[in-house]
Amino acid sequence: MVEFFGHVIDGRETESEDGRRFDSVNPFTREVWAQVPLGGRAEASAAIAAARRAFDDGPWPHLGPQARQAVLRRLAELMVEHADELARADTLDMGKPTPQALADVERSAWNIRFFADHQALSCGDQYPMDSGHHAYSLFQPAGVVVAIAPWNFPLMMATWKIAPALAWGNTVVLKPSEHTPTSVVVLARLALEAGLPPGVLNVVHGFGTGSVGEFLTDDDRVDRITFTGESRTGNAIMGAAARRLIPVSLELGGKGANIVFDDAELENATDWAVQAIFRNAGQVCLAGSRLFLQRGIAERFLERFRAKAEALVIGDPLAEGTEFGPLSSEVHHTKVKGYVETVEQHGGRLLTGGLGEGWFVKPTIVVGLPLDAPQYREEIFGPVVVVTEFDTEDEVVSLANDTPYGLNAMVFTENLSRAHRVSARLKAGTVWVNCFFIRDLRAPFGGVGASGVGREGGNFSREFFTEPKAVVMQVNREPES
Ligand code: NAD
Repeated sequence: MVEFFGHVIDGRETESEDGRRFDSVNPFTREVWAQVPLGGRAEASAAIAAARRAFDDGPWPHLGPQARQAVLRRLAELMVEHADELARADTLDMGKPTPQALADVERSAWNIRFFADHQALSCGDQYPMDSGHHAYSLFQPAGVVVAIAPWNFPLMMATWKIAPALAWGNTVVLKPSEHTPTSVVVLARLALEAGLPPGVLNVVHGFGTGSVGEFLTDDDRVDRITFTGESRTGNAIMGAAARRLIPVSLELGGKGANIVFDDAELENATDWAVQAIFRNAGQVCLAGSRLFLQRGIAERFLERFRAKAEALVIGDPLAEGTEFGPLSSEVHHTKVKGYVETVEQHGGRLLTGGLGEGWFVKPTIVVGLPLDAPQYREEIFGPVVVVTEFDTEDEVVSLANDTPYGLNAMVFTENLSRAHRVSARLKAGTVWVNCFFIRDLRAPFGGVGASGVGREGGNFSREFFTEPKAVVMQVNREPES
């Protein structure tokens, strides 16, 4: 039976005014498993009106930090209790194997818990002045936040945005990707159950260009836009924000460099290299899609890497033991397939991998490509890694930095000085040394160049989701006689 997940506007789960719907297709069976309403201008406007009312007239922005913390902590608990339901929605929407979907739920609950606690513990600053005045800062909620999420980590990316937004007292209109609309509806239901007032978190379904995405980002009643997705879409959204002079946070594409020096622990480096490009079938902005191997270890590394890639269990993402699922949609499969099919035409060779059944692309390792090949330069967003050998540190730093992107990089070495030196020289928002994907939510997260604008995490999120205010008081005034 096809399941239904509505818009969530002002605390009510609804259809669209005109009754139109669209399908969510399970990428493994390629059958429709769910339907959601297709939103239009009316639904986008109604959701913003609800968020505006909840901000201007509702209790949420005025609650104390501990009261907000309590509601959000309850939401995190409910997410853990409903982990199977949330994970199943992501798996059926986009083909992520269940253990990975469950790990995403855990991380999503952590996002909510972290920002709930962070804002509760956070204080403004004090500035005693020589003049006998005293200044202090207040971090006040910014207003209505539009959050637009991608399909690769549907729940996790959504919570990365809404957790700090809500924690800091804002109200939110969330548009999930049209490919993965369902898990955030479960989240919004749980948020109401946790005690979030109606209108504080709204979800509207629809497409991007010429649809809900554009209607939301073009609306004058919005105070902040936080977006994760492709760099090209980021351009359009920044344009919309610029017209109304509102702050925007953009987390965009990547073409991560994974650098393995010849003194690296090879077992550790190959394990992480597999995670970095084949987890979530490579549909990860942070993927280590350009693998740079120092010449002395290249052959030994590739032998192990290939064996580990070929050992991944490919299959039904809902089945126990599956480690690697299909690509998320037909349109995305067509895109990735194009890159795989033209490797030889561009002068490269598949060491392993290639196209699979249905919407599967197998874990694919490409060698021998020239540096101007599209597979080397463009974000494929699939399980395809391009291998390049290098000799010196200077050479690999310049290869790694030769990209419009700058989201992240990995460095594998046992040489401490080199680890620090190379990390400092890489053009990237995050550098992982001898690991991958580990996050401390207090640390800045974001990208350089085409990978984004702004940073989120800890106090960086506070800066974005609040209006900092300075209050200056005269404190040593003599009483008037
Ligand atoms: P996308 O840009 O196609 O879509 C993202 C969202 O934007 C969707 O909800 C879509 O409907 C909406 N949208 C599209 N056009 C719009 C417009 N003109 N106005 C408003 N909204 C619009 O991206 P995607 O394919 O869903 O996601 C994959 C991309 O996301 C990759 O490039 C990946 O690297 C990037 N990504 C980045 C990060 C990060 O943290 N930097 C994390 C995950 C994914």
